[in-house]
Amino acid sequence: MDGKVALIEAGGTKFIVGVGDASRRIDARTRIDTTRPEETIPAAIDWLRQQGSRYSAVGIASFGPLDLDRASPTWGHITRTTKPHWSNADVAGPVGRALGCRVAIDTDVNGAALAEWMWGAGQGTGSTLYLTVGTGVGGGAVVGGRLVHGIGHPEMGHIRMPRHPADLGFAGHCPFHGDCLEGLAAGPSIIARWGASLSDLPADHEGHEIIAWYLAQAVQTFQAILEPARIVLGGGVMATPRLLDRVRRMAVAASAGYFSGDPAAVIVPPALGDDTGLLGALALVEQPTP
Ligand code: ZN
Repeated sequence: MDGKVALIEAGGTKFIVGVGDASRRIDARTRIDTTRPEETIPAAIDWLRQQGSRYSAVGIASFGPLDLDRASPTWGHITRTTKPHWSNADVAGPVGRALGCRVAIDTDVNGAALAEWMWGAGQGTGSTLYLTVGTGVGGGAVVGGRLVHGIGHPEMGHIRMPRHPADLGFAGHCPFHGDCLEGLAAGPSIIARWGASLSDLPADHEGHEIIAWYLAQAVQTFQAILEPARIVLGGGVMATPRLLDRVRRMAVAASAGYFSGDPAAVIVPPALGDDTGLLGALALVEQPTP
């Protein structure tokens, strides 16, 4: 056993596969297009075998939804997804059998939440919530050193939203709910309304205020439920200049100043940069046992 950990960030368009260790060094990585499970998963396994390591564990941070019930015969499978070919795909099983090691699997956002809590923007706190706002919206939370799960994993992107008065004409972009948080604030909803990404809209475009307002309502909802020490806002949409400051300001207004903590200290950007996916997979392996 040489202490290497196999890492898979299983995304809807690409798999990033890497080899890491407990020191958080990632020695090698590759990218594999997400086509069909019977192609993509064996390609990931082949690459990991070619690296010549014996792995102590494999961490998989995957798109979802996932069956995470250890007692379920379909544990580690993707469940119902709109992505063609991937409904009911077994992700954990073939990887674990091929590499002959323990598998730690969870959603990509749960992996990122755990990594940000262990090593990033939530380090040293007792509670951290991570929300990614990009092609979709997803969130995970660590409370008391553990990721929060119910009978499934959280689906924070699908909370229902109040509507911004200047946005009532837009039906929303979520195929399941229309105007849930993801349907109103993810990248595709921005392009559907205004024909460009938020960062490409003029600085005085109303889209900036509207998207910040939705995210602020979401922040106030998550504060009401958990009041986490940190709310880490990541993802491509959050890279828009000044969006984070708008969200902070509007979240204070949305909650009427009800929650404790300086919004600049509570509502923060990610600290782990571009490797959040693989570090999330590593965090799933390295997480403290309760
Ligand atoms: Zn939805």
